[in-house]
Amino acid sequence: MVDARNDQWPGITASDEEIAAALQEADIPSLMTALVHITGDPGIIRGSIRPDAGFFGAPQGGIPEDQQQQIREQALQVLIAWRDGDGKLPPKPAGNVIREMMNFIVGEDLPDEYIGFLESELAMNGEDAYAQPAIEAVSGEKRAAFPVLIIGSGMSGILAGIRLRQAGIPFTIIEKNPNVGGTWFQNTYPGCRVDSPNHNYSYSFAQQDWPQHYSPQKVLLSYFDQVATEYGIREHVRFNTEVKKAEYDEASGHWRLYVVTDGQTESVLEGRALITAVGQLNRPRMPVIDGMETFDGPAFHSGEWEHEHDLTGKRIGVVGTGASAFQFVPEIARKAGDVVVFQRTPPWIAPREEYHDDIPEGKHWLLNNVPFYAKWYRFLMFWRTSEGLLGSVKKDDNWQDEISVSAANEELRQMLTEYIRSMVGDDPDLFAKAVPNYPPAGKRMLVDNGTWLTTLKRDNVHIITDEITAINERGLRTDTGDQYDVDVIIYATGFHANKFLWPMEIKGLNGADLQEYWDGDPRAYLGITIPGFPNLFCMYGPNTNIVVNGSIIFFSECEMRYILGCLALVIDKDLKALDCKPEIHDAYNEMIDAGNLKMAWGAPNVRSWYKNEKGRVTQNWPFTLREYWERTQAPDPSDYELIKAG
Ligand code: NAP
Repeated sequence: MVDARNDQWPGITASDEEIAAALQEADIPSLMTALVHITGDPGIIRGSIRPDAGFFGAPQGGIPEDQQQQIREQALQVLIAWRDGDGKLPPKPAGNVIREMMNFIVGEDLPDEYIGFLESELAMNGEDAYAQPAIEAVSGEKRAAFPVLIIGSGMSGILAGIRLRQAGIPFTIIEKNPNVGGTWFQNTYPGCRVDSPNHNYSYSFAQQDWPQHYSPQKVLLSYFDQVATEYGIREHVRFNTEVKKAEYDEASGHWRLYVVTDGQTESVLEGRALITAVGQLNRPRMPVIDGMETFDGPAFHSGEWEHEHDLTGKRIGVVGTGASAFQFVPEIARKAGDVVVFQRTPPWIAPREEYHDDIPEGKHWLLNNVPFYAKWYRFLMFWRTSEGLLGSVKKDDNWQDEISVSAANEELRQMLTEYIRSMVGDDPDLFAKAVPNYPPAGKRMLVDNGTWLTTLKRDNVHIITDEITAINERGLRTDTGDQYDVDVIIYATGFHANKFLWPMEIKGLNGADLQEYWDGDPRAYLGITIPGFPNLFCMYGPNTNIVVNGSIIFFSECEMRYILGCLALVIDKDLKALDCKPEIHDAYNEMIDAGNLKMAWGAPNVRSWYKNEKGRVTQNWPFTLREYWERTQAPDPSDYELIKAG
C-alpha cells in the first residue's frame, strides 16, 4: 500500500528504451503537469498544447496524436536527464503555479470556490486531506476513555476504525459476516467489479498500484482486507456477529448493543457513541411474483450467488437489468444454453473503452516512477468524476421535453442513444428495447465497453420486455401468455436500499423507535445525525449516495471527518452527547428534497431504488461534491443540543 502523501522519489533505473516505451502509455495531461515538477519549468503547460475539458472527458484531453508525440519526446529527455542527474527535484511549484496546473489539467478555469476543495484533494504538501484537526486538540486521556461502537466492517466501517485508531479512541466493530469487505465480500456474482475508476475509488491515504482501471470484486476485497490488516483494524472486529437492537441509555449517555454471535450467543456491548456503517445495498430484495415458490429448480438472488450450481448448458431466466445483471449476464451467457433476460426498464450506458482492460505495463511504470504523475492522474480522475456530468443531469424548468430534463441532458441523451445505435442499430427490435425512455441519470448509469449490448445480440440471449405475471414449476409466464421454461432463475432485483438500518431495532431518547420515527421516509442531517438519537452517527446514511459524480469513498471520508469533529466536541466539553436540533435537520432536508426534485433522478417518470414508496428521493445527494466537503469540515455546535453530563 502506498501512502498517497509520500513524495520521496527513489529515482529511476529504467533504460532509455524502457522509458520511451512506457511513455507511449502516458496520460498526456498528467505527464505534462508531472514534468513541471521535475523541471521546475511551468513553461511546459503554458504553450499551445493544452487539454480541453470536453463533454465526456475525451481521452488525452483531446490533444491530437502529433502533439502527444511531441510531449512524449520532451518527457523522454526530461526523464533521462533526471535519471542521470543527482536525482533531486526542484522546489515544489508555488501556490499560484499549482493553481495554474489545476486549471491546465482539467482544461478550464476552475471557479474560485473550488480551489480550496481541490487543493485539499491534491494534498500537494503531504497533508492528510480528510483528517480532523479538532480531535488532535482533545486530551489523549479523555479520548482513551471514550469507547465507540461501529456496526459494519465494509469500506466505511474500516475507515471509521482507522480514523478512531489514529485518534486514540477505543472502538469495537460488529460485523455480521465472517470477514471484512462489506459489499465486496457479499457480492460474488460472476463479472462483479467496481464501476468508478479505482484510482479514485480507494482511500485518499491508501493508494495502490491497481491491476485494472476498474477492478474485479476479488481485487477490491483483497484491497479492503489488506487495509484492515495493515491499519490494525481486524483485531477490533467481532465477526459473525449481528446487531439485533441498539438502545440509547439516557441516564448514562451510553449506547447499548444487543448482539448475537454465530446465530446463537447473545451478548451486550456498550459504548459512548455508535457509528453505523452498514451500507445501503446489502439486504437483497426479492420481487413478489405469483407462484415464485413453486419453481422446480435453483432460484437465487444475485447478491447471494449460489456457486454450487453449474450453469453450463442450462436455460437461465434472469429477472432485472440493473447494475448487477449488467455485469453477470455477459459472463453466464458464455456458458449457458440459453439466457432469457426479463427487462422492465433498460439502463443508460456510459461507454468506457478501458472498462475491462488491464492497466498496461507502461502506465504502471509511470504511476510508480515518475514523480507526481500518480498524484495528478488521481486528481484528474477525481475531477472528471466529481462534478463532471452534474450540469447535464440537472433539470431546467423551462425545458419542454417528455424525456430529457434540459438541453444538456438532451445532448447527453442523443450521444448515449447514438452509442446504442452504433452497437445494435442493425437490429431495430433490439435497438427499440435497449433505448431508455427516461432521462440519462434518471437511474444509475452503467459503465460499459460494449459487453452488454454485444451479449444481447448473442443467439442464446433473449431479451423479454413483457411483464412477468407468474412463476410456475417450469419457469416464468408473461402477460402475453408466453411461457419461458428455464432450469435456473436468478433474481437481479436489487436491494432494500431505502430501508436504512433495517432490520435492526434502534431506540433513541424516550425509547423512540427509529423506523417508526422515519415511517418509511429516512432522513438525517448531512446523512449523519438524527434528532432524538444522540451520539448516533450514520455513514452512507440517507441522501449521501451519488449518481454521476464522485466515488462513495469520498463521501465516507467526509462523513468520518465530521463524525470525529462531533466526538471532539463531546469529549472535549465533557458532554454526555450531541443531539441534532430538529429545526436544523428539517430545514436541511427541505433543501435536499428541493435539490433532488431538480435532478434527473427526481423526475416523475422514473422508478428506481433512489426513491421510496412515497416517491421521495431518500438516497441521493443532489449537489456538488464540493458542497458536501464544505458542509462536513466540522460540526457547528449551534446545530446541536449539547447534552451535559450529570
Ligand atoms: P437495481 O439497480 O435495483 O436493479 C434491479 C433490477 O430489477 C431493475 O432492472 C428492476 O427494474 C428489476 N426488477 C425489480 N423488481 C422486478 C420485478 N418484480 N419484475 C421485473 N423486474 C424487476 O439492483 P442492482 O442491479 O443489484 O444494483 C443496485 C445498485 O447496486 C446499483 O444501482 C449500484 O449502485 C450498485 N451496484 C454497483 C455495481 C458496481 O459498482 N459495479 C454493481 C452492482 C450493483 P426497474 O428498473 O424497472 O425497477
